[in-house]
Amino acid sequence: MAGPVETVQIERAGDGLLPAAGRESQSRGRRHTEPPPVYRGEYQRDRDRIIHASAFRRLVYKTQVFVNHEGDLYRTRLTHSLEVAQIARSVAHTLGLNETLAEAICLAHDLGHTPFGHAGQDALNECMRGCGGFEHNLQSLRVVDELEEKYAEFPGLNLMYETREGILKHCSARHARELGELGRRFLERRQPGLEAQLANLADEIAYNNHDVDDGLRAGLLSVEMLRSEPLFAAQHDEVVARYPLLEGRRLIHEVIRRMINRVVTDLIRETAARLRAANPGSIDEVRGREGPLVGFSEEIREQHLALKRFLHANLYRHHRVLGMTLKARRVVETLFAAYMDEPRLMPAEFAAAARAARQEQGEAGQARVVADYVAGMTDRYAIAEHERLTDPAVGNT
Ligand code: MG
Repeated sequence: MAGPVETVQIERAGDGLLPAAGRESQSRGRRHTEPPPVYRGEYQRDRDRIIHASAFRRLVYKTQVFVNHEGDLYRTRLTHSLEVAQIARSVAHTLGLNETLAEAICLAHDLGHTPFGHAGQDALNECMRGCGGFEHNLQSLRVVDELEEKYAEFPGLNLMYETREGILKHCSARHARELGELGRRFLERRQPGLEAQLANLADEIAYNNHDVDDGLRAGLLSVEMLRSEPLFAAQHDEVVARYPLLEGRRLIHEVIRRMINRVVTDLIRETAARLRAANPGSIDEVRGREGPLVGFSEEIREQHLALKRFLHANLYRHHRVLGMTLKARRVVETLFAAYMDEPRLMPAEFAAAARAARQEQGEAGQARVVADYVAGMTDRYAIAEHERLTDPAVGNT
């Protein structure tokens, strides 16, 4: 096998980036005009704004797979987002993509997640049926476009178009139509910029691998089970052959780090080959394409998808995880119904916003404010609120 770096040489522009990389000079800009930053770039400013956002701080108390209080060693949305950013930055750097733009997208990609991971999102989507539904990707965009309250002159964080484009990974056709330029690619089945494509796969690489790690740590998965997966088995064989006495956490970590290396190296090689063949001259040329340019080889794509299916069947649907899912559903449904019934149970600003939205847009307007409030909760805050609202003891409000 050839070394990873020498095989990815693609011609770069004078600024060290590929011609099709995201760059400020070709950006579609910010929604609200602002003076340019003085001592940093526009995408650096985006990344910095994301790190200072309240929604970013709350990620530390939000579930990835395991509810935050189940253990201190499991991934949370925050550590997940940092791992995604790390993977994307390494690949971006190697390929000549815009590392800072990729990092900004990754750090923001899960800002709209509800408490309790996908269970929370499914429950909230169900509550919002008939009121526009709830999609976490769209909510991440809503957080950076509308909900963060940081600046005197505009709502949200006023991020660059390319960062917002990357945050909006998926979107239903109905919502895409409401989003104008940003939603058009979902209707035309076109691609976002290369950094957005990369962030999407870095997300998948990160969770596939850290969920194996967390699943083993929790005792819900075993090495024997995982050996049915070619991606795991190949690395496990190699490690056992080379270090026959290795066991415990070090054995597992050595296998997982090799799994990450295997898929990341494949991603770099395959993407470099596609970029050389397509040779796009600008980010708009990338956007005009039907298929992505950032991707795995067929062999690794199959192994990666097989591992994803394995985790769905054996970890995300494990009875202990499902037990948490049911509880999460009940907490979200109860909170949503309570705030719809009596908006004054929410903090004063949300109560006022809910009242105003109801007057302007009817029930769906109020529901959106309630959904924003519930989605912004951390796991432990949602649990405490649920307890407070359902505890029959007088005086415990
Ligand atoms: Mg993610």
